[in-house]
Amino acid sequence: MKYDYLIVGAGLFGAVFACEATRKGKKCLVIDKRDHIGGNIYTYEEAGIQVHKYGAHIFHTSDDRVWRYINQFATFNRFTNSPMARFGDKLYNMPFNMNTFYQLWGVTTPAEAKAEIARQVQESGISKPKNLEEQAISMVGKDIYEILVKGYTAKQWGRPCAELPSFIIKRLPVRFTFDNNYFNDLYQGIPTEGYTAIVEKLLQGVEVKLSCDFFSNRTELEEIADRIVFTGMIDQYYDYCYGELEYRGLRFETETLDCDNFQGNAVINYNEYEVPYTRIIEHKHFAFGTQEKTVITREYPTKWERGQEPYYPVNNDKNNALYEKYRALAAKENRVIFGGRLGQYRYFDMHQVIAAALDCADQELR
Ligand code: FAD
Ligand code: UDP
Repeated sequence: MKYDYLIVGAGLFGAVFACEATRKGKKCLVIDKRDHIGGNIYTYEEAGIQVHKYGAHIFHTSDDRVWRYINQFATFNRFTNSPMARFGDKLYNMPFNMNTFYQLWGVTTPAEAKAEIARQVQESGISKPKNLEEQAISMVGKDIYEILVKGYTAKQWGRPCAELPSFIIKRLPVRFTFDNNYFNDLYQGIPTEGYTAIVEKLLQGVEVKLSCDFFSNRTELEEIADRIVFTGMIDQYYDYCYGELEYRGLRFETETLDCDNFQGNAVINYNEYEVPYTRIIEHKHFAFGTQEKTVITREYPTKWERGQEPYYPVNNDKNNALYEKYRALAAKENRVIFGGRLGQYRYFDMHQVIAAALDCADQELR
């Protein structure tokens, strides 16, 4: 065999694993079907601005090991994500906090806000939330559900909130302080040189082949290395033998504008169902940019079909049960490891992918 490891996917999982294996003296080949490294965290420069090609990526973690690890490859700025949510002509602060409660109900103290939410929860009659709709109402009441959750979530996931699992909305904090920080984590920021620079450093000294799809060269590639780390879709690896897992697709529309400040914030969500995009990001604000121009991206959720990029796993009971069947097949493999958002079919953020890749490398390279 020419290589110790064939790593399918030059995204964050593949790059962290490749870096760790190379440090341990292993010979790796990383392939990716795209024409660039980085997977979904890929950034490029336009008009002096780092553009997040596949949507806003804000690094956040409370895990010291992950924070120390990533800081070997980047310096982070002090960006704190504080998105605004737009419904009609009104703007609301996110995540759900005292500013939001004041904007909606005019309440000025935590006690008043809690009382209003409790009243709305009681009126709804929900005690044990069974789905995202009931979970959201029991967290923040009916008004906020109707304005800030219902439309956004239905278009993001392509189905009503009552048909989605609760865990998705539990990602968002609910706070009774005037704090617009989207995350509760100890560490947060944007890498000053962009995310691609991180992946370049992770892959320093590693052989990389781009525009190379594993499935177009499967027989040859399976013979090239002792072991395979696969970060593509696990159901595709098994030729969909148990059926297709569901994913949610996205379409990004990016434009450079001849103005220096389009929306005054890095992220503005559009929460009405009728607006076809979920958010507009203005990239310069992730880095407090002062350039003359600005670059914005509208993010449109789309129905996923085979052949398109699978951005989000849809982790409902049906898909999780199907994934378990693929996982059982994966457990029987003696030279293939599955990792990352697609390989493990998990709604992983970057810090979780790094932790998973480091754990995987620890176990594998022990
Ligand atoms: P990927 O980045 O998907 O990498 C997998 C790679 O494998 C891809 O490059 C793909 O081209 C390649 N590949 C797949 N199949 C094949 C094949 N057959 N042959 C060759 N190559 C193949 N996380 C955060 O922490 N903060 C955020 O703010 C955040 N925002 C996000 C916003 C959006 C819109 C999305 C979609 C994700 C966001 N994430 C965020 C999550 C983050 O993108 C992921 O956690 C991370 O990129 C996953 O890394 P990965 O290596 O598992 O997968
Ligand atoms: N969400 C919402 N309204 C918002 C923002 C988020 O209802 O203004 C819900 C939506 O269901 C979304 C989930 O919260 O899928 C998680 O949001 P997050 O910002 O973490 O999603 P991501 O950035 O991963 O797309």
